[in-house]
Amino acid sequence: MTEQPRLAYVGLGSNLDDPEHQVRRALAELDALPLTRCEAGSPLYRSTPMGPQDQPPFINAVARLATHLSPLALLDQLQALEQRHRRVRRRHWGPRTLDLDLLLYGDCRGRWPRLTLPHPGITERNFVLVPLADIAPDTCIGDAAVSHLADAIDRDGLQRLVPQQ
Ligand code: ATP
Ligand code: CA
Ligand code: CA
Repeated sequence: MTEQPRLAYVGLGSNLDDPEHQVRRALAELDALPLTRCEAGSPLYRSTPMGPQDQPPFINAVARLATHLSPLALLDQLQALEQRHRRVRRRHWGPRTLDLDLLLYGDCRGRWPRLTLPHPGITERNFVLVPLADIAPDTCIGDAAVSHLADAIDRDGLQRLVPQQ
């Protein structure tokens, strides 16, 4: 393969069936996707849920991938991985064993029926921006560096987990 791999950032979230384990397992599984390496994983964070509040807190992280997959082929792989974690969709922003959002794919921008890039929620979500800033502080979204966006966002409800020994 001659073409350079693209850098992609994936947001991980879980609030069911041992969320910390779900996220750690998914970070390892991302590294095993075809034509893809996981180059970095952020620390894990605990966050209060978005939307319906009658659900457990989330565990979140962000991963940096180097991939030869196209954006849509990568989305297919991410959705297949959600299914292997037995994700069931019951209600919008409801509880889930694993959510994998494709946050950024190189400097690709656009809207397709199944995919919007960059992911539209990034700049309003502390549980995305803060872990993204841990591994990609200088990356820009629009005109702003991720580190600046993360410094400016309210961190209410967000807590970094103490790393396991
Ligand atoms: P949100 O997208 O606001 O974080 P969610 O993660 O709960 O909400 P899902 O039910 O996981 O939403 O996904 C709904 C649809 O969003 C998916 O079927 C997928 O095709 C589409 N989608 C569009 N852009 C993206 C993206 N960048 N990453 C992941 N899914 C996306
Ligand atoms: Ca999401
Ligand atoms: Ca999603």
